[in-house]
Amino acid sequence: MDSDYKNYNLSSIAGHKKQLEFLRGLLTSGRMPSALLFYGQKNIGKKFTAAAFAASVLCGDYASHFAIYDRCASLNFCGKCPSCLGILNGTSQNLLFIEPSGNSIKIENIHRIDSFLSLAPAYPGHRFIIIDEASSMNASAANALLKMLEEPQGKTVFILITSNASMLLPTVISRCLLLGFSPVPDEVLLNVFKTEFSDISGETLRLYSKLSMGSYSGFHGLIEGKYLEKRNFLIDIIFKELFEEYKNKSNNKDPYEIAAKFNAMEKEGKSVWKKEKGSKGLENGPAEENEDKSAVFELILFILRDIYIYIVSKNEKLLYNEDIVDKIKGFALNFGITRKDLAHMIEYTASHIEKINSSNLNKSIAVDSYFSELLYI
Ligand SMILES: [Zn+2]
Repeated sequence: MDSDYKNYNLSSIAGHKKQLEFLRGLLTSGRMPSALLFYGQKNIGKKFTAAAFAASVLCGDYASHFAIYDRCASLNFCGKCPSCLGILNGTSQNLLFIEPSGNSIKIENIHRIDSFLSLAPAYPGHRFIIIDEASSMNASAANALLKMLEEPQGKTVFILITSNASMLLPTVISRCLLLGFSPVPDEVLLNVFKTEFSDISGETLRLYSKLSMGSYSGFHGLIEGKYLEKRNFLIDIIFKELFEEYKNKSNNKDPYEIAAKFNAMEKEGKSVWKKEKGSKGLENGPAEENEDKSAVFELILFILRDIYIYIVSKNEKLLYNEDIVDKIKGFALNFGITRKDLAHMIEYTASHIEKINSSNLNKSIAVDSYFSELLYI
């Protein structure tokens, strides 16, 4: 559990109103299922919602057991009682998190559930097992879990989370109550962040809510990753050189020169761009290193995408980078770039991102080969 999260209040969740109503309904109606499956796009708050829901139910359980007051129906995470504190510091005997170790959830991970359930809970009430990236379970893990789901135990509730439900065993899915999640609308994110980041201009926040693709943690990532500084550097230096080279087709500029400039600027900018340690959201856990490696290429992809969209549609309103429309237009119109070449660049960048995410490719080598191949497609 990420101890940087201090607030598991369901009311602090951006969007997902219907899902929250549904979850509240399960509790108030006394029809809590033994297994739930949260599915939907990555990084839109499924895991946080699962954790907040479990934490709130458990806080209520604690309160009713010790007759502090009956808070059960109000679903509130107080953050102060032993149940809430146990969750915050990762020692809860009522809530267990299972995550992939390496790339998959293995049988050993599932065995942790057995030992967790064999211990007596700290107080009577529910016990939650949240399985993140459930579709990464290998066959033996999935079968072991299936056995558990087939024999529900008292008030034990499994919450499986996935962005890829089709990879789960149909038999596992059939044991769960399904709850789908959609990206949070721009406007909802914007309202939440207006209060959280009152020092950032409204214009920047609006841009970020658009770029975060409906993801609360994505929004945080943009701010912590200094998105605008990086993007502006790419636009003003790297894209300019790339497109000039494309236009002149002189072949006298070594693409490694662009790569070297890119590496040098990135190195220099590191202190500015470096992500603040420990400020990352729950949703961005284990993949952090890979995300860092590919993040800059994702920025390039975003820019290429906008240039392409403008060439095809001539419609400014469809651009993500809405604050630099004129620059995007300039790249689209002034360098004689063809739709076909741009489509190739996009395709190549996307496959490059996939490649670095699935391997231990050295980043600077990746940058060198990227620019040389991008220019000679
Ligand atoms: Zn509490």
